[in-house]
Amino acid sequence: MFSGEKNNLKRSAPNPGGSLRNEMKICHFIFNKRKYWGKLENDLIYIFSGSRERFRGEEAGVNLPAVDRQAVKLLCPFSPTKIVCVGRNYALHAVELGNQIPEKPLLFLKAPSALILSGEPIVIPSQSDRVEHEGELAIIIGKQCRKLTLDDDPFDYILGYTCLNDVTARDCQKEDIQFTRAKSFDTFCPVAPFYETDADVSNLLVQTRVNGELRQSGFTSEMVFPVDFLVRYISNQMTLKRGDLIATGTPAGVSKLFPGDVCEVSIERIGTLTNPVICEN
Ligand code: MG
Repeated sequence: MFSGEKNNLKRSAPNPGGSLRNEMKICHFIFNKRKYWGKLENDLIYIFSGSRERFRGEEAGVNLPAVDRQAVKLLCPFSPTKIVCVGRNYALHAVELGNQIPEKPLLFLKAPSALILSGEPIVIPSQSDRVEHEGELAIIIGKQCRKLTLDDDPFDYILGYTCLNDVTARDCQKEDIQFTRAKSFDTFCPVAPFYETDADVSNLLVQTRVNGELRQSGFTSEMVFPVDFLVRYISNQMTLKRGDLIATGTPAGVSKLFPGDVCEVSIERIGTLTNPVICEN
């Protein structure tokens, strides 16, 4: 199995200015039959009085009422019109599947109907005998953008970041000419029920564990094409709309999932995404 723990030794200096950032985990939830926005801190959710936009920039956490995370029903905090995925964006993953490292981002789409939240089961479909995990950092677009140039700052168009599992039916992917079916079975896009604002994502540890065993490990600094490059590049191929997701690729170590497994994607500073695996009846 991939021994990624040693990668901890490779990391560079901590993110500059991290403590000066306005980092918050934003969530959307139902409490007492009403929908709210709030920020998640450990097991507490601080409830915003209004929209998340109004809150942004206010002094964090001042006199906000709090509720226990277990007392609410978390909802997906973004509604993508599309989920744009980047294939082979970590060199070692490209190599492990016998592929070349791409010269430009390899893009494909994942159906938004595949979205599920942390805690919900990944369902292995009857069409596949090899479903694999791909833990990834996901970008959430905050502002519509099209044809960004080198004069534009792509980070101005990013709402936040979350954990995503680009679940893949590897046998279907190899059988078909393209990736649509392999990537878009229902439940094949687990995401964390929150997003982190303002994090410096240039060098974060991305890990995937199955039943507690480390399978994938890599740093976002190892991406072939980094976050800002991807947003600018994709905006030149198609209009990116508020709420759209970009899955930025997966480190080496993908492996087969079995019914009864529990798959966990964790990203430093961002959070953790956990899903059980079941078989289609
Ligand atoms: Mg992927």
